[in-house]
Amino acid sequence: MIIATEEAFATSEFLDTYLDFAAARQNEGMLFAASVLSRPGMRDRLTDIDVRLAEMDAHGTDMHLMSLTSPGVQVFDPDLGTALAIRVNNEMAALIRQHPNRLAGLAAIAPQDPRRAAAEIERAMGDLGFNGIIINSHTQGEFLDDRKFWPIFDAAVKHRAPIYLHPTFPPDTMIEPYVRYGLNGAIWGFGAETSLHAVRLVMSGVFDRYPELQIVLGHMGEALPYWFLRLDLQYQKQIARQQHPPGMVKLNRMPSDYFRSNFHFTTSGMYWNDLLEFAIKTMGAERIMFSIDYPYEPSTRSTEWIKQIPVSPQDKDRIMSGNAIKLFQIRSR
Ligand code: MN
Repeated sequence: MIIATEEAFATSEFLDTYLDFAAARQNEGMLFAASVLSRPGMRDRLTDIDVRLAEMDAHGTDMHLMSLTSPGVQVFDPDLGTALAIRVNNEMAALIRQHPNRLAGLAAIAPQDPRRAAAEIERAMGDLGFNGIIINSHTQGEFLDDRKFWPIFDAAVKHRAPIYLHPTFPPDTMIEPYVRYGLNGAIWGFGAETSLHAVRLVMSGVFDRYPELQIVLGHMGEALPYWFLRLDLQYQKQIARQQHPPGMVKLNRMPSDYFRSNFHFTTSGMYWNDLLEFAIKTMGAERIMFSIDYPYEPSTRSTEWIKQIPVSPQDKDRIMSGNAIKLFQIRSR
């Protein structure tokens, strides 16, 4: 069985609202995302469930765990963001009810209103039957380690909702050096921004406060396993100094320990056996899940790759579906 766990979705209302909003702002990052969402065929692939199911059938993907496409509702003002998230979630939940064996979903929230975002987590994980939450990384330049966002973590832990921390374009304070060579998107900027966000969560002590919180990163962990040793060594060296760097927080454990207890990685766009092997070595096979990143990455290459990964049958089964069933509480329906 193959479950793909980072599969983008949109409603027509969301696309229209976002494209109008981006056009009116003339913001570098927003316009970049708008250009991607405006590519030929994109609207149908994001919004039309029959188009999606046909692609799943063609490549033997049993289930898509869908989530609202980046940049989601996080660019809007709190009222519009909150209202749009609720409408997107209602529409997605109705589609999942129509195809319960083929579709599951992560609910959108608007972190720019943390209280209402927490209420939407409760609604989504309860009545609507969602499998977790999607957050498209920073919210208007702010990161989730900021205590004002912690009601979101309270709700996520209470309702056992994993949070998929998905990339978006870098914030205004960070994007300029990426623009010149077209580096603000999936080629580099997405990973740079999202890995920074994940490291901020770890270094802020969020996981000492919320030991049960589970975060999911795509793209085989946004290159973070390469940094585990250096994060630990530099943290140890610097925290031991009389005057450690301003802002540095004393953690209960080493930075890399939190990745192994509070993070999961998915394979989106990283069809590379050596990388998978290193991710398994550093995280354990029980923390790696298959994803395609539909419609931005080809289902063909992703599914052909995952079928041939050189791991034990047991690990293969975990990575292709078992880990996702467990983490996202996907029930056979
Ligand atoms: Mn994606």
